[in-house]
Amino acid sequence: MTTHFINNERVAGSSGESIPVLDPSDGQVFAHLARGNAEDIRKAVAAAREATDGGAWSRLAPMQRGRLLHKLSESILAHHDELTHLEMRDCGKPVKQAKADTTAVARYFEYYAGACDKLHGDTIPYTPGFAVMTFYEPHGVTGHIIPWNYPMQIFGRSVGGALAAGNACVVKPAEDACLSLLRIAELAAACGFPDGALNIVTGYGHEAGQGLADAVGIDHISFTGSARVGTIIAQSAATRHLPVTLELGGKSPQIVFADADLDEAVPVIVNAIIQNAGQTCSAGSRLLVEASAYERVLEAVGQRINALKVGPAAMDLDVGPLIRANQLERVNGFLSGAKAANLRTIAQGSIATEAPATGFYAKPTLIADVPVDAKLAQDEVFGPVLSAMSFKDEADAVRLANATEYGLVAGVWTENGGRGMRMARAVKSGQVFINNYGAGGGVELPFGGVKSSGYGREKGFEALYGFSVLKTVVVKHG
Ligand code: NAD
Repeated sequence: MTTHFINNERVAGSSGESIPVLDPSDGQVFAHLARGNAEDIRKAVAAAREATDGGAWSRLAPMQRGRLLHKLSESILAHHDELTHLEMRDCGKPVKQAKADTTAVARYFEYYAGACDKLHGDTIPYTPGFAVMTFYEPHGVTGHIIPWNYPMQIFGRSVGGALAAGNACVVKPAEDACLSLLRIAELAAACGFPDGALNIVTGYGHEAGQGLADAVGIDHISFTGSARVGTIIAQSAATRHLPVTLELGGKSPQIVFADADLDEAVPVIVNAIIQNAGQTCSAGSRLLVEASAYERVLEAVGQRINALKVGPAAMDLDVGPLIRANQLERVNGFLSGAKAANLRTIAQGSIATEAPATGFYAKPTLIADVPVDAKLAQDEVFGPVLSAMSFKDEADAVRLANATEYGLVAGVWTENGGRGMRMARAVKSGQVFINNYGAGGGVELPFGGVKSSGYGREKGFEALYGFSVLKTVVVKHG
Protein backbone atom coordinates (compact mmCIF):
# COMPACT_ATOMS: atom_id res chain seq x y z
CA MET A 1 0.00 0.00 0.00
CA THR A 2 1.24 3.54 -0.73
CA THR A 3 1.59 6.10 2.07
CA HIS A 4 0.85 9.78 2.48
CA PHE A 5 3.75 12.20 2.16
CA ILE A 6 3.97 14.57 5.12
CA ASN A 7 6.96 16.56 6.40
CA ASN A 8 9.18 15.07 3.68
CA GLU A 9 8.46 11.55 4.86
CA ARG A 10 6.28 8.66 3.82
CA VAL A 11 3.63 8.41 6.50
CA ALA A 12 1.27 5.44 6.83
CA GLY A 13 -2.45 6.30 6.87
CA SER A 14 -3.97 6.47 10.36
CA SER A 15 -6.94 4.25 9.41
CA GLY A 16 -4.79 1.44 8.01
CA GLU A 17 -7.40 1.10 5.24
CA SER A 18 -6.69 1.20 1.53
CA ILE A 19 -8.29 2.08 -1.81
CA PRO A 20 -7.72 -0.20 -4.83
CA VAL A 21 -6.30 1.51 -7.92
CA LEU A 22 -7.40 0.19 -11.33
CA ASP A 23 -5.53 0.31 -14.61
CA PRO A 24 -8.19 1.73 -16.98
CA SER A 25 -6.66 -0.15 -19.92
CA ASP A 26 -7.62 -3.56 -18.49
CA GLY A 27 -9.75 -2.74 -15.45
CA GLN A 28 -7.43 -4.69 -13.14
CA VAL A 29 -6.23 -3.58 -9.68
CA PHE A 30 -2.51 -2.82 -9.75
CA ALA A 31 -1.92 -0.78 -6.57
CA HIS A 32 -3.49 0.27 -3.28
CA LEU A 33 -3.58 3.78 -1.89
CA ALA A 34 -3.69 4.82 1.74
CA ARG A 35 -7.28 5.81 2.53
CA GLY A 36 -6.69 9.14 4.23
CA ASN A 37 -9.07 10.87 6.62
CA ALA A 38 -9.40 14.07 8.62
CA GLU A 39 -6.73 12.91 11.09
CA ASP A 40 -4.15 12.50 8.29
CA ILE A 41 -5.14 15.92 6.96
CA ARG A 42 -4.66 17.41 10.44
CA LYS A 43 -1.07 16.09 10.50
CA ALA A 44 -0.35 17.46 7.03
CA VAL A 45 -1.80 20.89 7.85
CA ALA A 46 0.26 21.01 11.07
CA ALA A 47 3.42 20.19 9.08
CA ALA A 48 2.62 22.92 6.54
CA ARG A 49 1.92 25.40 9.35
CA GLU A 50 5.36 24.68 10.85
CA ALA A 51 6.99 25.38 7.49
CA THR A 52 5.29 28.75 7.15
CA ASP A 53 4.77 31.53 9.74
CA GLY A 54 8.51 31.91 10.46
CA GLY A 55 9.37 28.28 9.61
CA ALA A 56 12.09 27.12 7.23
CA TRP A 57 10.04 27.54 4.04
CA SER A 58 8.93 31.07 4.91
CA ARG A 59 12.50 32.13 5.76
CA LEU A 60 13.79 31.39 2.25
CA ALA A 61 14.40 34.38 0.01
CA PRO A 62 12.16 34.36 -3.10
CA MET A 63 15.30 33.72 -5.16
CA GLN A 64 16.02 30.59 -3.09
CA ARG A 65 12.43 29.37 -3.50
CA GLY A 66 12.83 29.89 -7.21
CA ARG A 67 16.01 27.81 -7.29
CA LEU A 68 14.25 24.94 -5.51
CA LEU A 69 11.33 25.06 -7.94
CA HIS A 70 13.79 25.06 -10.80
CA LYS A 71 15.62 22.07 -9.34
CA LEU A 72 12.32 20.22 -9.08
CA SER A 73 11.54 21.00 -12.72
CA GLU A 74 14.90 19.52 -13.75
CA SER A 75 14.38 16.50 -11.51
CA ILE A 76 10.98 15.84 -13.11
CA LEU A 77 12.63 15.91 -16.54
CA ALA A 78 15.34 13.55 -15.29
CA HIS A 79 12.55 11.15 -14.20
CA HIS A 80 10.45 11.69 -17.33
CA ASP A 81 10.12 8.01 -18.28
CA GLU A 82 9.20 6.89 -14.78
CA LEU A 83 6.54 9.59 -14.31
CA THR A 84 5.16 9.04 -17.80
CA HIS A 85 4.78 5.35 -17.10
CA LEU A 86 2.98 6.00 -13.79
CA GLU A 87 0.55 8.43 -15.44
CA MET A 88 -0.13 6.01 -18.32
CA ARG A 89 -0.97 3.18 -15.98
CA ASP A 90 -2.90 5.24 -13.46
CA CYS A 91 -5.01 7.29 -15.91
CA GLY A 92 -4.95 5.08 -19.05
CA LYS A 93 -3.31 7.89 -21.01
CA PRO A 94 -1.80 6.94 -24.38
CA VAL A 95 2.01 7.29 -24.33
CA LYS A 96 2.03 10.61 -26.26
CA GLN A 97 -0.44 12.21 -23.85
CA ALA A 98 1.35 10.94 -20.73
CA LYS A 99 4.69 12.22 -22.07
CA ALA A 100 3.15 15.62 -22.80
CA ASP A 101 1.75 15.77 -19.25
CA THR A 102 5.16 15.02 -17.73
CA THR A 103 6.78 17.70 -19.86
CA ALA A 104 4.01 20.12 -18.84
CA VAL A 105 4.44 19.64 -15.09
CA ALA A 106 8.19 20.29 -15.45
CA ARG A 107 7.36 23.41 -17.45
CA TYR A 108 4.97 24.68 -14.74
CA PHE A 109 7.71 24.46 -12.12
CA GLU A 110 10.18 26.08 -14.52
CA TYR A 111 7.76 28.94 -15.21
CA TYR A 112 6.92 29.50 -11.55
CA ALA A 113 10.60 29.20 -10.54
CA GLY A 114 11.27 32.30 -12.61
CA ALA A 115 8.28 34.11 -11.14
CA CYS A 116 9.19 33.79 -7.42
CA ASP A 117 11.33 36.93 -7.23
CA LYS A 118 9.18 39.02 -9.57
CA LEU A 119 5.99 39.28 -7.53
CA HIS A 120 6.27 42.74 -6.06
CA GLY A 121 3.98 45.39 -4.75
CA ASP A 122 3.73 49.08 -5.50
CA THR A 123 4.00 52.53 -4.01
CA ILE A 124 0.91 54.72 -4.04
CA PRO A 125 0.96 58.54 -4.22
CA TYR A 126 -0.95 59.85 -1.20
CA THR A 127 -1.05 62.91 1.04
CA PRO A 128 2.28 64.78 1.56
CA GLY A 129 4.06 63.44 4.66
CA PHE A 130 2.95 59.84 4.02
CA ALA A 131 4.53 56.91 2.15
CA VAL A 132 2.24 54.07 1.08
CA MET A 133 3.44 50.72 -0.19
CA THR A 134 1.84 47.36 -0.96
CA PHE A 135 3.21 43.86 -0.42
CA TYR A 136 2.08 40.52 -1.88
CA GLU A 137 2.28 38.10 1.01
CA PRO A 138 1.51 34.36 0.94
CA HIS A 139 -1.81 33.21 2.44
CA GLY A 140 0.16 30.74 4.57
CA VAL A 141 -1.14 27.18 4.13
CA THR A 142 -2.98 26.45 0.89
CA GLY A 143 -5.12 23.34 0.30
CA HIS A 144 -5.23 21.83 -3.20
CA ILE A 145 -7.88 19.34 -4.32
CA ILE A 146 -6.94 17.79 -7.65
CA PRO A 147 -9.00 15.71 -10.14
CA TRP A 148 -7.90 12.52 -11.91
CA ASN A 149 -7.97 13.67 -15.52
CA TYR A 150 -4.64 15.54 -15.55
CA PRO A 151 -3.07 14.85 -12.13
CA MET A 152 0.41 16.10 -12.98
CA GLN A 153 -0.64 19.12 -15.04
CA ILE A 154 -3.15 20.38 -12.50
CA PHE A 155 -0.74 19.76 -9.63
CA GLY A 156 1.91 21.78 -11.53
CA ARG A 157 -0.32 24.74 -12.22
CA SER A 158 -1.94 24.89 -8.80
CA VAL A 159 0.85 23.86 -6.42
CA GLY A 160 3.55 25.47 -8.60
CA GLY A 161 1.84 28.86 -8.33
CA ALA A 162 1.11 28.51 -4.61
CA LEU A 163 4.69 27.53 -3.73
CA ALA A 164 6.09 30.33 -5.89
CA ALA A 165 3.99 32.84 -3.93
CA GLY A 166 5.50 31.43 -0.70
CA ASN A 167 2.69 29.21 0.60
CA ALA A 168 3.15 25.76 2.13
CA CYS A 169 0.81 23.25 0.47
CA VAL A 170 -1.41 20.34 1.45
CA VAL A 171 -2.58 18.37 -1.57
CA LYS A 172 -5.47 15.88 -1.82
CA PRO A 173 -5.23 14.23 -5.24
CA ALA A 174 -8.06 12.18 -6.74
CA GLU A 175 -8.54 8.62 -5.51
CA ASP A 176 -8.44 7.30 -9.09
CA ALA A 177 -5.03 8.67 -10.03
CA CYS A 178 -2.31 10.08 -7.81
CA LEU A 179 0.79 7.87 -8.00
CA SER A 180 2.76 10.38 -10.08
CA LEU A 181 2.13 13.10 -7.48
CA LEU A 182 3.43 10.99 -4.60
CA ARG A 183 6.58 10.46 -6.64
CA ILE A 184 6.95 14.18 -7.43
CA ALA A 185 6.67 14.99 -3.71
CA GLU A 186 9.56 12.59 -3.05
CA LEU A 187 11.56 14.28 -5.80
CA ALA A 188 10.87 17.67 -4.19
CA ALA A 189 12.19 16.41 -0.85
CA ALA A 190 15.33 15.10 -2.57
CA CYS A 191 15.79 18.54 -4.18
CA GLY A 192 15.93 20.12 -0.71
CA PHE A 193 12.42 21.50 -0.15
CA PRO A 194 12.16 22.17 3.61
CA ASP A 195 10.01 19.83 5.71
CA GLY A 196 6.31 20.60 5.46
CA ALA A 197 6.48 22.83 2.34
CA LEU A 198 4.69 20.20 0.24
CA ASN A 199 2.45 17.50 1.73
CA ILE A 200 0.18 14.95 0.10
CA VAL A 201 -2.70 13.03 1.65
CA THR A 202 -4.42 10.46 -0.56
CA GLY A 203 -7.99 9.30 -0.12
CA TYR A 204 -11.61 9.65 -1.11
CA GLY A 205 -13.22 13.02 -1.69
CA HIS A 206 -15.87 12.66 1.00
CA GLU A 207 -13.22 11.73 3.59
CA ALA A 208 -9.76 13.22 2.97
CA GLY A 209 -11.11 15.83 0.52
CA GLN A 210 -13.86 16.99 2.84
CA GLY A 211 -11.33 16.86 5.69
CA LEU A 212 -9.10 19.28 3.81
CA ALA A 213 -11.95 21.60 2.84
CA ASP A 214 -13.09 21.74 6.49
CA ALA A 215 -9.60 21.78 8.05
CA VAL A 216 -8.78 24.32 10.70
CA GLY A 217 -5.44 25.94 9.86
CA ILE A 218 -5.66 26.30 6.11
CA ASP A 219 -5.83 29.78 4.67
CA HIS A 220 -6.90 29.21 1.05
CA ILE A 221 -8.36 26.39 -1.04
CA SER A 222 -7.74 25.73 -4.69
CA PHE A 223 -10.29 23.22 -6.01
CA THR A 224 -10.29 21.71 -9.50
CA GLY A 225 -13.14 19.34 -10.26
CA SER A 226 -16.86 19.16 -10.83
CA ALA A 227 -19.29 22.04 -10.32
CA ARG A 228 -21.22 19.87 -7.82
CA VAL A 229 -18.25 19.39 -5.49
CA GLY A 230 -17.13 22.99 -6.12
CA THR A 231 -20.34 24.11 -4.43
CA ILE A 232 -19.62 21.92 -1.38
CA ILE A 233 -16.08 23.34 -1.12
CA ALA A 234 -17.23 26.95 -1.45
CA GLN A 235 -19.94 26.41 1.19
CA SER A 236 -17.44 24.96 3.65
CA ALA A 237 -14.95 27.76 2.96
CA ALA A 238 -17.65 30.42 3.41
CA THR A 239 -18.23 29.40 7.04
CA ARG A 240 -14.61 30.42 7.76
CA HIS A 241 -14.39 33.20 5.15
CA LEU A 242 -11.59 31.38 3.34
CA PRO A 243 -10.69 32.55 -0.14
CA VAL A 244 -11.28 29.87 -2.78
CA THR A 245 -10.28 29.31 -6.39
CA LEU A 246 -12.76 27.10 -8.27
CA GLU A 247 -11.65 25.54 -11.56
CA LEU A 248 -14.77 23.61 -12.62
CA GLY A 249 -16.31 22.00 -15.67
CA GLY A 250 -17.11 23.22 -19.16
CA LYS A 251 -19.19 22.71 -22.28
CA SER A 252 -16.96 24.65 -24.59
CA PRO A 253 -18.10 25.62 -28.11
CA GLN A 254 -16.10 25.43 -31.33
CA ILE A 255 -17.77 28.10 -33.49
CA VAL A 256 -17.15 27.66 -37.22
CA PHE A 257 -18.14 30.31 -39.77
CA ALA A 258 -18.53 29.46 -43.47
CA ASP A 259 -15.34 31.36 -44.37
CA ALA A 260 -13.15 29.32 -41.97
CA ASP A 261 -10.04 27.56 -43.24
CA LEU A 262 -11.30 24.01 -42.72
CA ASP A 263 -7.91 22.40 -43.43
CA GLU A 264 -6.65 24.24 -40.36
CA ALA A 265 -9.80 23.96 -38.27
CA VAL A 266 -10.92 20.34 -38.64
CA PRO A 267 -7.88 18.52 -37.16
CA VAL A 268 -7.87 20.95 -34.21
CA ILE A 269 -11.62 20.58 -33.64
CA VAL A 270 -11.31 16.78 -33.59
CA ASN A 271 -8.30 16.86 -31.28
CA ALA A 272 -10.14 19.18 -28.89
CA ILE A 273 -12.80 16.53 -28.25
CA ILE A 274 -10.66 13.37 -28.27
CA GLN A 275 -7.69 14.60 -26.22
CA ASN A 276 -7.53 12.53 -23.04
CA ALA A 277 -10.59 10.61 -24.35
CA GLY A 278 -12.70 13.75 -23.94
CA GLN A 279 -12.00 13.85 -20.19
CA THR A 280 -10.78 17.43 -20.36
CA CYS A 281 -12.46 20.42 -18.68
CA SER A 282 -11.77 22.53 -21.78
CA ALA A 283 -12.83 19.83 -24.28
CA GLY A 284 -14.43 21.48 -27.32
CA SER A 285 -17.58 19.44 -26.91
CA ARG A 286 -20.06 21.57 -28.91
CA LEU A 287 -19.59 22.17 -32.63
CA LEU A 288 -21.56 25.25 -33.77
CA VAL A 289 -21.45 25.73 -37.55
CA GLU A 290 -22.85 28.44 -39.83
CA ALA A 291 -25.80 26.88 -41.68
CA SER A 292 -24.34 27.27 -45.19
CA ALA A 293 -21.25 25.25 -44.22
CA TYR A 294 -22.94 22.82 -41.81
CA GLU A 295 -23.06 19.62 -43.91
CA ARG A 296 -19.57 20.29 -45.35
CA VAL A 297 -18.06 20.64 -41.86
CA LEU A 298 -19.95 17.60 -40.54
CA GLU A 299 -18.53 15.54 -43.38
CA ALA A 300 -14.93 16.69 -42.87
CA VAL A 301 -15.05 16.24 -39.07
CA GLY A 302 -16.93 12.94 -39.47
CA GLN A 303 -14.30 11.51 -41.82
CA ARG A 304 -11.62 12.04 -39.21
CA ILE A 305 -13.74 10.68 -36.37
CA ASN A 306 -14.56 7.52 -38.37
CA ALA A 307 -10.81 6.88 -38.75
CA LEU A 308 -10.03 7.14 -35.01
CA LYS A 309 -8.80 4.09 -33.12
CA VAL A 310 -9.30 3.53 -29.40
CA GLY A 311 -7.15 1.18 -27.33
CA PRO A 312 -4.91 0.52 -24.32
CA ALA A 313 -2.52 3.26 -23.19
CA ALA A 314 0.54 1.24 -24.24
CA MET A 315 -0.71 0.94 -27.85
CA ASP A 316 -0.56 4.74 -28.07
CA LEU A 317 -3.54 5.03 -30.42
CA ASP A 318 -5.65 8.16 -31.01
CA VAL A 319 -7.74 7.63 -27.90
CA GLY A 320 -7.18 5.70 -24.64
CA PRO A 321 -9.71 4.28 -22.16
CA LEU A 322 -11.91 6.30 -19.82
CA ILE A 323 -10.89 6.38 -16.17
CA ARG A 324 -13.36 3.86 -14.75
CA ALA A 325 -16.49 1.77 -15.36
CA ASN A 326 -19.06 4.32 -14.21
CA GLN A 327 -17.51 6.98 -16.44
CA LEU A 328 -17.99 4.60 -19.39
CA GLU A 329 -21.59 3.99 -18.32
CA ARG A 330 -22.13 7.75 -18.17
CA VAL A 331 -20.79 8.28 -21.70
CA ASN A 332 -22.76 5.33 -23.08
CA GLY A 333 -25.85 6.72 -21.35
CA PHE A 334 -25.51 9.96 -23.34
CA LEU A 335 -25.12 7.92 -26.57
CA SER A 336 -28.19 5.79 -25.92
CA GLY A 337 -30.13 8.95 -24.99
CA ALA A 338 -29.16 10.44 -28.36
CA LYS A 339 -30.29 7.27 -30.10
CA ALA A 340 -33.61 7.25 -28.27
CA ALA A 341 -34.13 10.88 -29.33
CA ASN A 342 -33.44 9.88 -32.96
CA LEU A 343 -30.48 12.24 -33.24
CA ARG A 344 -28.25 11.78 -36.28
CA THR A 345 -24.99 9.90 -35.56
CA ILE A 346 -22.64 11.17 -38.24
CA ALA A 347 -19.49 9.25 -37.37
CA GLN A 348 -17.98 6.90 -34.84
CA GLY A 349 -14.42 5.64 -34.29
CA SER A 350 -13.61 2.02 -33.46
CA ILE A 351 -12.08 0.06 -30.61
CA ALA A 352 -8.95 -1.96 -31.40
CA THR A 353 -9.49 -5.73 -31.29
CA GLU A 354 -6.49 -6.00 -28.92
CA ALA A 355 -8.27 -3.85 -26.28
CA PRO A 356 -9.10 -6.02 -23.22
CA ALA A 357 -12.86 -6.44 -22.76
CA THR A 358 -12.38 -5.46 -19.12
CA GLY A 359 -10.99 -1.99 -20.06
CA PHE A 360 -13.15 1.15 -20.20
CA TYR A 361 -13.34 2.06 -23.89
CA ALA A 362 -15.74 4.55 -25.46
CA LYS A 363 -16.02 5.20 -29.20
CA PRO A 364 -15.46 8.80 -30.31
CA THR A 365 -18.78 9.94 -31.77
CA LEU A 366 -20.14 12.91 -33.71
CA ILE A 367 -23.86 13.59 -33.27
CA ALA A 368 -25.65 16.21 -35.38
CA ASP A 369 -28.72 18.47 -34.98
CA VAL A 370 -28.56 18.37 -31.19
CA PRO A 371 -31.24 20.74 -29.81
CA VAL A 372 -29.72 23.49 -27.69
CA ASP A 373 -31.73 22.46 -24.63
CA ALA A 374 -30.91 18.71 -24.92
CA LYS A 375 -28.87 17.11 -22.13
CA LEU A 376 -26.18 16.38 -24.68
CA ALA A 377 -25.86 20.09 -25.47
CA GLN A 378 -26.01 21.20 -21.85
CA ASP A 379 -24.22 18.65 -19.65
CA GLU A 380 -20.54 17.82 -19.50
CA VAL A 381 -20.24 14.31 -21.01
CA PHE A 382 -16.55 14.01 -20.09
CA GLY A 383 -16.02 11.54 -22.92
CA PRO A 384 -15.21 11.74 -26.66
CA VAL A 385 -18.68 12.85 -27.81
CA LEU A 386 -19.05 15.92 -30.03
CA SER A 387 -22.52 17.50 -30.39
CA ALA A 388 -23.13 19.59 -33.50
CA MET A 389 -25.75 22.23 -34.29
CA SER A 390 -26.05 24.99 -36.88
CA PHE A 391 -26.49 28.75 -36.52
CA LYS A 392 -27.90 31.45 -38.82
CA ASP A 393 -25.64 34.41 -38.21
CA GLU A 394 -23.24 36.01 -35.74
CA ALA A 395 -25.94 36.91 -33.22
CA ASP A 396 -27.32 33.37 -33.32
CA ALA A 397 -23.79 31.98 -32.83
CA VAL A 398 -23.34 34.14 -29.72
CA ARG A 399 -26.74 33.06 -28.39
CA LEU A 400 -25.92 29.35 -28.79
CA ALA A 401 -22.36 29.71 -27.50
CA ASN A 402 -23.62 31.31 -24.28
CA ALA A 403 -26.61 28.98 -23.85
CA THR A 404 -25.15 26.67 -21.18
CA GLU A 405 -24.46 27.13 -17.47
CA TYR A 406 -20.71 26.88 -18.20
CA GLY A 407 -18.17 29.38 -19.54
CA LEU A 408 -14.66 28.00 -19.65
CA VAL A 409 -13.15 28.14 -23.16
CA ALA A 410 -14.38 28.87 -26.70
CA GLY A 411 -12.89 28.50 -30.19
CA VAL A 412 -13.85 30.77 -33.11
CA TRP A 413 -12.96 29.85 -36.68
CA THR A 414 -13.27 32.61 -39.30
CA GLU A 415 -11.09 34.46 -41.82
CA ASN A 416 -12.89 37.70 -40.93
CA GLY A 417 -10.71 39.39 -38.29
CA GLY A 418 -13.35 41.83 -37.10
CA ARG A 419 -15.89 39.06 -36.64
CA GLY A 420 -13.36 36.95 -34.74
CA MET A 421 -12.79 39.80 -32.29
CA ARG A 422 -16.50 40.59 -31.94
CA MET A 423 -17.18 36.94 -31.12
CA ALA A 424 -14.27 36.83 -28.66
CA ARG A 425 -15.74 39.79 -26.79
CA ALA A 426 -19.33 38.53 -26.85
CA VAL A 427 -18.77 34.93 -25.76
CA LYS A 428 -18.89 34.47 -21.99
CA SER A 429 -15.84 32.37 -21.11
CA GLY A 430 -12.46 32.59 -19.44
CA GLN A 431 -10.44 32.00 -22.61
CA VAL A 432 -11.25 32.44 -26.31
CA PHE A 433 -9.09 31.11 -29.12
CA ILE A 434 -9.41 32.54 -32.64
CA ASN A 435 -8.30 30.14 -35.39
CA ASN A 436 -6.58 27.85 -32.87
CA TYR A 437 -7.56 26.05 -29.70
CA GLY A 438 -5.87 25.30 -26.40
CA ALA A 439 -2.46 26.71 -27.37
CA GLY A 440 -0.83 23.41 -26.41
CA GLY A 441 -1.60 23.99 -22.74
CA GLY A 442 -0.12 27.50 -22.57
CA VAL A 443 1.39 27.50 -19.08
CA GLU A 444 1.81 31.29 -19.38
CA LEU A 445 -1.87 31.95 -20.13
CA PRO A 446 -4.29 32.73 -17.27
CA PHE A 447 -7.00 30.07 -17.13
CA GLY A 448 -10.34 29.79 -15.38
CA GLY A 449 -14.05 30.16 -15.89
CA VAL A 450 -17.12 32.28 -15.55
CA LYS A 451 -20.61 31.12 -14.47
CA SER A 452 -20.58 27.46 -13.31
CA SER A 453 -17.06 26.96 -14.68
CA GLY A 454 -15.82 28.67 -11.53
CA TYR A 455 -13.88 31.76 -10.49
CA GLY A 456 -10.31 32.81 -9.85
CA ARG A 457 -7.46 32.17 -12.27
CA GLU A 458 -4.61 29.69 -12.32
CA LYS A 459 -1.74 29.47 -14.81
CA GLY A 460 0.35 32.43 -15.90
CA PHE A 461 1.59 35.19 -13.61
CA GLU A 462 -2.01 36.04 -12.75
CA ALA A 463 -2.22 32.93 -10.56
CA LEU A 464 0.31 34.42 -8.15
CA TYR A 465 -2.09 37.22 -7.21
CA GLY A 466 -4.71 34.64 -6.25
CA PHE A 467 -2.20 32.77 -4.12
CA SER A 468 -1.22 36.00 -2.30
CA VAL A 469 -2.78 38.56 0.00
CA LEU A 470 -2.18 42.23 -0.76
CA LYS A 471 -1.14 44.21 2.30
CA THR A 472 -1.04 48.01 2.33
CA VAL A 473 1.45 49.72 4.66
CA VAL A 474 1.09 53.44 5.39
CA VAL A 475 4.00 55.35 6.95
CA LYS A 476 3.68 58.89 8.30
CA HIS A 477 7.12 60.38 7.93
CA GLY A 478 6.11 64.02 8.21
P1 NAD B 1 -14.85 15.62 -8.68
O1 NAD B 1 -15.42 16.94 -8.34
O2 NAD B 1 -15.68 14.42 -8.47
O3 NAD B 1 -13.50 15.37 -7.86
C1 NAD B 1 -12.44 16.29 -7.88
C2 NAD B 1 -11.65 16.15 -6.60
O4 NAD B 1 -12.50 16.49 -5.51
C3 NAD B 1 -11.15 14.72 -6.31
O5 NAD B 1 -9.88 14.79 -5.69
C4 NAD B 1 -12.19 14.21 -5.33
O6 NAD B 1 -11.69 13.19 -4.49
C5 NAD B 1 -12.49 15.46 -4.54
N1 NAD B 1 -13.78 15.45 -3.85
C6 NAD B 1 -14.91 14.77 -4.17
N2 NAD B 1 -15.88 15.02 -3.25
C7 NAD B 1 -15.35 15.87 -2.35
C8 NAD B 1 -15.85 16.51 -1.18
N3 NAD B 1 -17.10 16.29 -0.73
N4 NAD B 1 -15.04 17.35 -0.49
C9 NAD B 1 -13.78 17.59 -0.93
N5 NAD B 1 -13.24 17.00 -2.02
C10 NAD B 1 -14.02 16.16 -2.72
O7 NAD B 1 -14.37 15.76 -10.18
P2 NAD B 1 -13.66 14.66 -11.07
O8 NAD B 1 -14.69 13.73 -11.57
O9 NAD B 1 -12.47 14.12 -10.37
O10 NAD B 1 -13.10 15.59 -12.24
C11 NAD B 1 -13.85 15.91 -13.35
C12 NAD B 1 -14.38 17.32 -13.23
O11 NAD B 1 -13.31 18.23 -13.03
C13 NAD B 1 -15.03 17.77 -14.51
O12 NAD B 1 -16.18 18.49 -14.22
C14 NAD B 1 -13.97 18.65 -15.15
O13 NAD B 1 -14.45 19.58 -16.09
C15 NAD B 1 -13.39 19.31 -13.96
N6 NAD B 1 -12.06 19.83 -14.26
C16 NAD B 1 -11.89 21.19 -14.35
C17 NAD B 1 -10.66 21.72 -14.69
C18 NAD B 1 -10.45 23.20 -14.80
O14 NAD B 1 -9.31 23.62 -14.85
N7 NAD B 1 -11.48 24.02 -14.87
C19 NAD B 1 -9.59 20.87 -14.94
C20 NAD B 1 -9.79 19.49 -14.84
C21 NAD B 1 -11.03 18.99 -14.48
